[in-house]
Amino acid sequence: MTAAHSRALRAAAGLAALSVVALTSAGAGLPPTGTTAAPVATAATTSTTAAVGPCLSAADGHRVRAGSGLDGVDPNSLGAAGTEHAQQAEDRASARAQQRRTSSARLGKTTIDVYVHVITSSKGQGDVSDKRVKKQIDVLNRAYAGKTSKYSTASPFSFRLRGIDRTRSSAWYRWDAPTELQDGDDVAPKVALHRGGPDDLNLYTAALTDGLLGYATFPWETRDGLDPRRDGVVVLGTSLPDGSARGYDRGDSATHEVGHWLGLLHTFENGCRTPGDLVDDTPAQADGDNVFSCSKLDTCKAKGRDPVHNFMSYGDDACLTRFSKGQVARMSEQWQLFRSPAALS
Ligand SMILES: [Zn+2]
Repeated sequence: MTAAHSRALRAAAGLAALSVVALTSAGAGLPPTGTTAAPVATAATTSTTAAVGPCLSAADGHRVRAGSGLDGVDPNSLGAAGTEHAQQAEDRASARAQQRRTSSARLGKTTIDVYVHVITSSKGQGDVSDKRVKKQIDVLNRAYAGKTSKYSTASPFSFRLRGIDRTRSSAWYRWDAPTELQDGDDVAPKVALHRGGPDDLNLYTAALTDGLLGYATFPWETRDGLDPRRDGVVVLGTSLPDGSARGYDRGDSATHEVGHWLGLLHTFENGCRTPGDLVDDTPAQADGDNVFSCSKLDTCKAKGRDPVHNFMSYGDDACLTRFSKGQVARMSEQWQLFRSPAALS
């Protein structure tokens, strides 16, 4: 696992221990800063008034680790306050579901429609071909069917590509992710391009800054006042299969981000402290640079070795192969509480 080691070394160089990976090539070929061609897509609106959901705001200092030159921010790391907020949202939704007597049914096979929005520079840099998009859907389907490892658990979820659109816009191409202090650059493109409802997956590809591979909205944010058009998953375009993000070019950035979109936290959420990632069968994992490693590790006193092969850890794509039974149960529950059409009735 030499590749994994080199990833760990890169992490040790001081990046945040999050979806943040030093992809020094990510900036190559980008249009010069200041290129501001108008978006091509005809936006129904470009409102930027929607508030960032409280959970994003609640994510605290855990989201940024002081780095040497690169400060990375993973919008999907919650920290203690954010985890508590997620639990409270879940409790409220459970209570509502019990009132309607719609909860606790086992989730049957569920097909999620996927709308892919490819954003390129005005010159077409960063384009992702239909072929690569289809490969990405295949990667998701294999991962969520438990086909990537004999230790993985099959989920009820499968993915059906419903549409691909492309927008040439240098103004939209390079995205800064949202932080606890401000909206990201994703608001206008998301508001303009989003399709469907909370049970539809909107997947955006763009050139993310600061080495970020991707980020996603959580299910409970749909009840937190998030503009429904901002729901979705964002990934670095070069992370789709056959892209140029070395080590991260098999499409598992999307696998990881869709895990967040379905309600999973990082396996190292809250480090060795309870309540961890709110899933019982993913052993606790320290939240240091170890999260990038694919080696056998046991960083917490609690029972069990670190789940380094879990899709919600930070190994490179070759390393990540598994969802646990508990994670599949959590995704199914979160779907029923927040995303299924029944949850909205
Ligand atoms: Zn993540």
